Amino acid sequence: AEAARADRAAVQELERTFAGRLVHPHEPAYDEARRIWNGSISKFPALVAYCTGVADVVAALDCARRGGLPVAVRSGGHSFPGQSLCEGGIVIDLSAMNGIRVDPVHRTVRAQAGVLLGALDRETQHFGLAIPSGIVTHTGLAGLTLGGGIGWLMRKYGLTVDQLLSADLVTADGTFLQVSAESQPELFWGLRGAGGNFGVVTEFEFRLNPVGPTVLAGPVLWPLEEAPRVLRFYRDWITDVPDELTTVVVHRKAPSLPAIPPDLHGRPVIAVISCYTGDIDEGQEVLRPLKAFGTPLLDLCVPKPYTQHQAMFDPSFPHGWWYYVKACNVDRLTDDVVDICAEHALRVASPLSTGGIFHLGGAVARVGEDETAYSGRGVGHTFNINGNRTTAEGFEEERAWARDWWSALRPHHAGVYVNFLMDEGADRIEQAYGAAKLRRLRELKREFDPANVFRSNQNIAPAEW
Ligand code: FAD
Repeated sequence: AEAARADRAAVQELERTFAGRLVHPHEPAYDEARRIWNGSISKFPALVAYCTGVADVVAALDCARRGGLPVAVRSGGHSFPGQSLCEGGIVIDLSAMNGIRVDPVHRTVRAQAGVLLGALDRETQHFGLAIPSGIVTHTGLAGLTLGGGIGWLMRKYGLTVDQLLSADLVTADGTFLQVSAESQPELFWGLRGAGGNFGVVTEFEFRLNPVGPTVLAGPVLWPLEEAPRVLRFYRDWITDVPDELTTVVVHRKAPSLPAIPPDLHGRPVIAVISCYTGDIDEGQEVLRPLKAFGTPLLDLCVPKPYTQHQAMFDPSFPHGWWYYVKACNVDRLTDDVVDICAEHALRVASPLSTGGIFHLGGAVARVGEDETAYSGRGVGHTFNINGNRTTAEGFEEERAWARDWWSALRPHHAGVYVNFLMDEGADRIEQAYGAAKLRRLRELKREFDPANVFRSNQNIAPAEW
C-alpha cells in the first residue's frame, strides 16, 4: 500500500509539471499508446509519457525514481522484442521530439531522438547529403543509432555511429550531459553500440556525406531453387566490389507488390538487392556480372532516388504484424553456409517471412574494433532471419523455421548484431560484445547507471563494487 501511495504521489507531481501528454491505463488513448511496431508484443505500462523536451525527460525519470516505477525508453518503437515497453512502469516516449536541423555549410545535422529514418533522409537529401542509417523508413533513429546502425551506405560511410559527433543525454539521476569524443570519451564510446544503457538520448548530431540523390539500386531475383549457385557466385563476386556498393541477400516468397509481376507473387525467390552510391555508369559496370548471372526472373536494379530505395522494404514490414527474429554474424559464405541457407529458405511457409544477409566490410571494417562499443567490425555478413505473420495464426511455425535455420548455422556463428536480438538473455548479449568489451561496458554502466534504471534493453549489468 505504501508503494502504491508513493507512486500515486509521484505521478500526481508529474502531472503538475509535465508539458507533454500523459496517457493513463483508463484512457481511450491507452491502447494506442501501448502499441509498438511488433504486434506480437503486449505489455501494460502504468503510464506513457510523451515528452516535449529535456525537462519532460528529467521529470519523467524523477517520477519513476520517486515512485519506484520501472522505466522503458521509446523512440521509434521498433525494438524487435518490445523493450521500449515495460509492465507497470513509465514509458518515456520521445516521438514528439522530432526536430531536424541540417547545417549544409558544415555538413552536419542535429536530430532529436524521436526522428524516424525517412524524415531524416528527406531533410538531408534536400541538400544532397545523408547519414548511413537503416533500410526501413519508419525505424527510429535513436534505437538504431545506439546499437550501431547498418544499412545501404555502410560500406561507403560506415555505421550510423561512425558519423555521430555528439549526443545530448539525460542520465538516471536527471543529469544533462553533452557527450562527445572530447567531453566524455568513455561514455561516447559506450553510446556507440550499447547506448540504451546509460541514459535517455534527447538529441544527436551527425556528420553528413554526399549521397545521390540518384543511386543505382534495387533487387535482382532468381528462383529460390537456384540459391546454391546464386550464393556461390555472389560470394565470389563481392570479394572485390567497391565500397560504393552495399548488398543484401533476401530469401523469401516474392511479395505481392505492384513492382512485381503477378505471376511471380508467392514464388520462392532469392534476391540480391544492391545500392550503389557513386557514378551511375561506373555502378552499371560493377553490377553487370550480377545482372548477367544465370537467368534472373526479374531485374529491378535501376537508377532511382536514394529516398525511394530507402522505402523499398517498407511494405514488407508494416506496423502491427507479428514478428520474430533470429540473428547471427558469419565470417564467410562457405559452401556449408550456402547449403544451409538454400535448404532452410525453401522450407518457409509464410509469404511474409524473410531470410536476410547483409554484406558488411568496407568502411565498417576500417574502424578499429575497440573504437566503439559496436562489435564485429571484421565479420563478413550479418544474418536477420525473420519469421513473420500478420497475426498469431501460424506464428509458432514461423518462429520454429527461423530458429531451425539459425541453429543449423550455429557452427558458423561469429557474434551477433545487438539490434537484431530478441530477449535472449545474458549469454547472447555477451556474444554481441565479447567478454572484454562487456567488462568495459559494465564499468561504464556502474559509473552512469549503478542502480540499472535503464534495464528494459539489451542489458549491461553494472559491474560489482
Ligand atoms: P525503440 O523500440 O523505440 O527503442 C529500442 C531500444 O533502444 C529501447 O528499448 C532503448 O533501450 C533504446 N532507446 C531507444 N531510444 C532511446 C533513447 N532516446 N535514449 C536511450 N535509449 C534509447 N537496424 C539496423 O541497424 N539496420 C536496419 O536496417 C534495421 N532495419 C530494421 C527494420 C525494422 C522494420 C525493424 C523493426 C528494425 C530494424 N533494425 C535495423 C533494428 C533497429 O535498429 C532496432 O530495432 C532499434 O532498436 C530501433 O530503434 P527505435 O528507436 O525504433 O526503437
